[in-house]
Amino acid sequence: MSVEPMVFPAQSRLLPYVALFGLTFALTLGGILARPIESLSLFWPVNAVLAGMLLRYPRQASPLGFALIWLAMVAADLACGSAWAPALWFNLCNLGVVVTVWLLLSRLPRRHRRMRSPQGVLTVFGASTAGAAVAASLACVMAAPWFEQSLRSTWLAWFSEQFSTSVLVLPVLLTAPSARALVRSGAQAIRLAPLLVLLASLALSILFGGPGAIAFPIAALLWCAWTYSPFLVSLLTLTAGSTLIVAVAQNLMHFSVPQSEPGVSTLMSARLGIAMLVLGPLVVACVSQANRSLLARLAHQATVDHLTGVLTRSAFTQRASAVLDSRQLHAQALPLTLMMLDIDHFKSINDRHGHGVGDQVLRQFARTLQDQLHDGELLARMGGEEFVVLLPGLAPERAKFTAERLRRAVQDLHVAQGDARLQITVSIGLDGCAADVTAPGLDELLARADQALYRAKAHGRNRVELAEAQRQVV
Ligand code: GH3
Ligand code: MG
Ligand code: MG
Repeated sequence: MSVEPMVFPAQSRLLPYVALFGLTFALTLGGILARPIESLSLFWPVNAVLAGMLLRYPRQASPLGFALIWLAMVAADLACGSAWAPALWFNLCNLGVVVTVWLLLSRLPRRHRRMRSPQGVLTVFGASTAGAAVAASLACVMAAPWFEQSLRSTWLAWFSEQFSTSVLVLPVLLTAPSARALVRSGAQAIRLAPLLVLLASLALSILFGGPGAIAFPIAALLWCAWTYSPFLVSLLTLTAGSTLIVAVAQNLMHFSVPQSEPGVSTLMSARLGIAMLVLGPLVVACVSQANRSLLARLAHQATVDHLTGVLTRSAFTQRASAVLDSRQLHAQALPLTLMMLDIDHFKSINDRHGHGVGDQVLRQFARTLQDQLHDGELLARMGGEEFVVLLPGLAPERAKFTAERLRRAVQDLHVAQGDARLQITVSIGLDGCAADVTAPGLDELLARADQALYRAKAHGRNRVELAEAQRQVV
């Protein structure tokens, strides 16, 4: 009897929502249970964490998802003994942050959303401001009966807490590398000096105290920002920012601001200041990361031919000159050979089959040559359908066999073109020098190999020719 495979489409769609509910419940419960710990009661990171998660994994960011987040927050509040009405209202304020931040950031291009541009960092700050303002306004409208303070201090208390927490927490989630990127990059050593200076300047802020002391870590944070990745910088701004907020709240920094109204506290002012303080380092971190990847891309473009993946002419010149210099340093001990290769009648392939097929032929031609070469042997595209190979350690008379092997490999190459198969041939000119002989300069080697190539063409193509000097040796 065959057993029908059981399929649960509804269940597989439901599971992520159950996970979202569970995660929100656990985070909220954790937040509530941490409140008695004095320093943790200063933060409510649940909203920023959920907004960040939905921005990274947007599948559950739907009306149903947001409704479940609210219900999970309310359920956690009730489980901790809150009354129904405040649990419903306060968590609507929390949900306001999640929805506002998500609405403002989710439609941004990925580059900005992942804070890879200064505009991205500024928009995250803007979204945090808007989210905090929405929560603070909802709190004033709906939760007024539960607060004894004035509306102004209620608004400021909610705003300053939600804004600072969001600005410190969101960047960590938005810049966090994916698991795949982490595996790809592997373990990397980091420079410790900027981190140690940051820790020292934080300690100095607390020991020295006073209102100016919250700005002491700026220099160290900027150093961290152009040294480390944006993710690591986000972790450091979170650490530095929350340390300073706790220090102010515990009055470790010994300062207070004159109160225009009871309830507008030093802590609110410090929170807003500390949140603004991390803006600079975050922008610097993302600009230096963008510069680093631009430089890496430019270096790659200058070194690797975009079509065939072999060395470019300029990279070849640099590396071949280094080989010649090191040969001179080692008393010309090694022989070497340089080959110029040019595909025969390549223009007719373009003319008959189109430029796209010509490109495909060039790619397969380069791959065929590369497969025949060993480590330390250089292959470069000099331009068009002309390539060069440098074989250190191989004298021209022996390299002739290598050249013949390359020529045959190209002749045996069949490039699929619809039902047909294209065949190509290559002509090769070769020059070099034996051990203990002073090598000519790179330009002369290239010119002599080119003359030999010209002779290979003149003598019927699909053949290898030695330069004049080598013909005399052989
Ligand atoms: P010969 O046997 O004398 O070398 O003849 P040939 O047709 O191979 O030589 P010629 O120099 O007349 O033609 C080279 C052609 O290579 C002309 C040019 O359009 C083509 N070509 C140069 N660069 C590229 C490229 O990147 N892609 C393609 N598809 N064609 C290219
Ligand atoms: Mg040609
Ligand atoms: Mg040519």
